[in-house]
Amino acid sequence: MGHFLQRAVEDITGVSPAKGELLRKELGIHNFGDLLWDLPFRYIDKSAISTIREAKSATEAVQLKGIFTDKHIEGNGHKKRLVATFEDGSGTLEILWFQRARDIDKWIVPGKPYLIYGKLQDYRGKFNIVHPEIEELTLNKTVTTGLEPVYHSTEKLVLRGLDSKGRRKIIKQLFSQLRPEELPENLPESIISKLRFFSRYEAIKRVHFPTSPEQLTAAKNRLKFEELFFLQLLLLRSKIKRETTIKGFIFGEVGELFNTFYAKHLPFTLTNAQKRVIKEIRQDMGSGHQMNRLLQGDVGSGKTIVALMCMLLAADNGFQSVLMAPTEVLAQQHFISISELLDGLDIKVAFLSGSITGAPRTEILESLKSGETTILLGTHAVIQEWVEFKNLGLAITDEQHRFGVAQRAQMWTKSPVHPPHVLVMTATPIPRTLALTIYGDLEVSILDELPPGRKPVVTTQRSEAHRSKVNSFVQEQIRLGRQVYVIFPLIEESAKLDLENLQDGYERLLAVFPRPDYQISVVHGRMKAGIKNEEMERFKDHKTQIMVSTTVIEVGVNVPNATVMIIENAERFGLAQLHQLRGRVGRGADQSYCILMTSYKLSKTARERLDVICRTNDGFEIAEADLKLRGPGDIAGTKQSGAFEFKAANLVEDQAILKTARLMAEDILQRDAELMMKEHYTLRQFLQTEYKYKQDWSRIS
Ligand code: ADP
Ligand code: MG
Repeated sequence: MGHFLQRAVEDITGVSPAKGELLRKELGIHNFGDLLWDLPFRYIDKSAISTIREAKSATEAVQLKGIFTDKHIEGNGHKKRLVATFEDGSGTLEILWFQRARDIDKWIVPGKPYLIYGKLQDYRGKFNIVHPEIEELTLNKTVTTGLEPVYHSTEKLVLRGLDSKGRRKIIKQLFSQLRPEELPENLPESIISKLRFFSRYEAIKRVHFPTSPEQLTAAKNRLKFEELFFLQLLLLRSKIKRETTIKGFIFGEVGELFNTFYAKHLPFTLTNAQKRVIKEIRQDMGSGHQMNRLLQGDVGSGKTIVALMCMLLAADNGFQSVLMAPTEVLAQQHFISISELLDGLDIKVAFLSGSITGAPRTEILESLKSGETTILLGTHAVIQEWVEFKNLGLAITDEQHRFGVAQRAQMWTKSPVHPPHVLVMTATPIPRTLALTIYGDLEVSILDELPPGRKPVVTTQRSEAHRSKVNSFVQEQIRLGRQVYVIFPLIEESAKLDLENLQDGYERLLAVFPRPDYQISVVHGRMKAGIKNEEMERFKDHKTQIMVSTTVIEVGVNVPNATVMIIENAERFGLAQLHQLRGRVGRGADQSYCILMTSYKLSKTARERLDVICRTNDGFEIAEADLKLRGPGDIAGTKQSGAFEFKAANLVEDQAILKTARLMAEDILQRDAELMMKEHYTLRQFLQTEYKYKQDWSRIS
């Protein structure tokens, strides 16, 4: 790639070393390439300026043109703020700055025209805007297009003349030096013509200097496509590569263990979805290639039994399996329930976690090494270096989103001949766009059917005013012989506070549900594993009716007799978490309830989250809503994968583009897996340079 794009920002006229330093520090912009790819995040129509009077009834952010008539600093210390009065002839408005108030104070010149952009807030009947985007308005310059790009900026940058306008100047300078050859085409001619794309250079240019809304959209789409396409190409290529070069153990036989279990031990009939998925997995494991499959299914769709039957299949073919769970509690649960299910079959199951030490550990390790133990269940302890298998054939992770890519990769090293078959299971569904991006190099199976007879959980939101009603409801359910969870949130900053919170809640419950009529279990993250399990067992065995807990029980715990889930401070939980927690009830035949206790005042997004949870039980729908509400960056799993950060694409908005990109990538690789054809030279070239770092990442899924 041309080293033009690598030139330091200071090489542009007007960018002093001080400004360069700020760009690096504040926005991570080091060189010409970074500048080009820091795309405008918004476009303003200079003609669309509202008046302050109109703005007071607007629900969206507005653009205003006017002057400052007054400004002064108020308050002291961290409450210090600049309060400025902004006026445009139709009315006045207060503008507030809390950060860098003194500097902004010096920078603003009363009487000079400014353009500001922000959302009006009604503060006790007075309107204001806090930290607006702001730029000096140059009056003598007419703007020809209605679309002016707005670039990211910060108060520090504004003060240095690097407001959006200042940044536009830099980009203009850059383009005056940028020749089209510096941004060579990276897509094959066939795609460009089929999708009627601008050339790469043209597209970038039009995104920075749009001439019409239509062209802007077209240019943006090309850049979005490009990003998504290359990532898909990379993911699919590593998938194909793996399939063609990495051999897998062949589990050709359905043997005695599997058949006996199916005929005599399985306590229910498999759902059609479970049957289909087991078949898909069997095909993979019999193919001679190493399996890499993602199993997606909603809470309660019955992933565990699928995992177990696959492990039996491995055993029938003479191989060991491991199932790794993210928490000790969940791993223990798996151990207990799987041991029960397998009772009477000739197969040895062991449990391993960090809390198992000394002689018991040595014994487990030896029986793994000798091959005496066939199935190992546990926490991430099972993939540590000192754990050696005789012949590991299948590695499964439950609740994959809790693990990093590195842990997944570690599984590969556990078998010397071929890597084991790998199955990763999610806790809740992932939106399709995310699945294609995070797990785009895996095969995917979906359990899209719940076992029969499940009644959807009835979910409601309640506030403190309803407390006594909620309590009587709980008493009634307990009288009917049911059990209840009460969950307290984790406040991450302070484990001590969490505990106090939980302790307070526990004491309040004790007052309402006194011994000996009621028995309450408590489980939290800071408990010793042994005690935690004991408490869980007491609840499971119905020795206690109420389980008070932090989110440690979030995933996997299975007590079918529990019918009420009360979530305290529900507004503090994310959607996926709420859905997971709710999934702890509704596991038996009885009608179950989820009660979301909240404070009176809720933020808009908290309200939206709670509405979604009350409205639907469908994990796939909730996952989509979650993605929309939070954006891709915050969804569990994406951070850990961390390998992609899109400049143009947006996984919420660009589903259709992603789909096209995936199809086109598939099509190309089907014809030319190694990208050796002449027409694919540019692709290969581009992948080898620009996407090199991502390659390493995708190899190890
Ligand atoms: P998840 O997919 O959330 O991990 P589990 O594997 O824990 O779900 O299964 C949830 C519950 O449903 C368990 O009690 C399990 O025994 C039960 N279950 C699983 N499959 C079936 C089925 N086909 N019919 C009836 N119950 C089932
Ligand atoms: Mg599970």
